[in-house]
Amino acid sequence: MSEKIIRSSIHDEETLDPENWDQVRALGHRMVDDMVTYLSEVRERPVWQPIPADVKAYFEEPLPQEPSDSSEVYNDFLEFIQPYPMGNIHPRFWGWVIGTGTTTGMFAEMLAAGMNPNVGGGDHIANYVEAQVIQWFIEAFGFPPSSSGLLVSGGSMANLVGLTVARNTKAGFDIRVEGVHHAPAPLTIYGSTETHNSVQKAVELLGLGDKAFRRIPVNDSFQIDIEKLGAAIDEDRAQGLQPICIIGNAGTVNTGAVDDLDALAEISSRENLWYHVDGAFGSLAALSPELRQLVDGLERADSLAFDLHKWMYMPFEIGCALMREEEAHRKSFSLTADYLEHTERGVGAGTRWFSDYGVQLSREFRALKAWMSIKEYGIRKYGRLIKQNVE
Ligand SMILES: *Cc1c(COP(=O)(O)O)cnc(C)c1O
Repeated sequence: MSEKIIRSSIHDEETLDPENWDQVRALGHRMVDDMVTYLSEVRERPVWQPIPADVKAYFEEPLPQEPSDSSEVYNDFLEFIQPYPMGNIHPRFWGWVIGTGTTTGMFAEMLAAGMNPNVGGGDHIANYVEAQVIQWFIEAFGFPPSSSGLLVSGGSMANLVGLTVARNTKAGFDIRVEGVHHAPAPLTIYGSTETHNSVQKAVELLGLGDKAFRRIPVNDSFQIDIEKLGAAIDEDRAQGLQPICIIGNAGTVNTGAVDDLDALAEISSRENLWYHVDGAFGSLAALSPELRQLVDGLERADSLAFDLHKWMYMPFEIGCALMREEEAHRKSFSLTADYLEHTERGVGAGTRWFSDYGVQLSREFRALKAWMSIKEYGIRKYGRLIKQNVE
């Protein structure tokens, strides 16, 4: 084919490109203006309002078969979607443990989606951005510099990743090959009765069964009762069960309780158990020099789960799993199919293949909002904000 034919056939192809780039630019500018106004006026609006029946009914319309004008679609957003938010971006929204998002986070999401890399691996810059963000948290929490990590959708996924590595490392056999049913004794995991239910989900997904999650009573401060924990481990061993992991809570959802993380580190190492800390929001107290002592001991964890969309105020979704032993982390997830062969050069090269460290192969560039936010605000500012929130 001559160049001319190739060019004309490309030209005739149907695509999703805008028909008119100037129009799309103008619409984009309008969206930016509208959204910045919307955010700057958040304090003047009610936190939440009920969704009228006719608005709900609008979301029952059938599948669109034919195109609409992009500005009409945007008008639908303005009329039917934007006015009915959850409310968590409002400064007086104190429900659950939910972050607000930031303007920087919003713009970073746009930039990330515009570049739209697949951060499963390869030699392109997004992988380096994510690696740096992880390294920053390794530093902030005082983990060894050789630790590894993965940005994930949130604390639930970070708990799943951490507990997967815990199970695989402590099972005592190749559980990836043999499966859970091969275990000579049922594997058990320990945490307080206040532990978040994402841990239960993880334990179930890992094939251990909810019964394997031994819920230990708490003391008057809603912290895990250390003596009862020790007794439960002993008793389970005597019954022929195989304890593999202790979970420490750095900030429970019900009361904000932080377990005695140092004591749990000691029991874990004495009993040769994996030590996982669920620090979804509370671990970030470590960023405040005044509050840091509340979570002392979390730097001794084998794995730490935390969120950036809670006490780092970033837009959903972003959480992180840190792992003390890079090798244990990689061994739990790496697989190299022919179509994913890591090459020596070109875009298929690169030392960071994040798909070797977690569940997902295709991964979004969520690192960018963390990278831009941390650079813009500096990590100390987060520490001050967290202290202010506590006060
Ligand atoms: C929020 C939370 C989770 C779950 O995190 P998601 O980001 O919602 O998936 C787990 N543990 C604790 C303590 C939490 O506060």
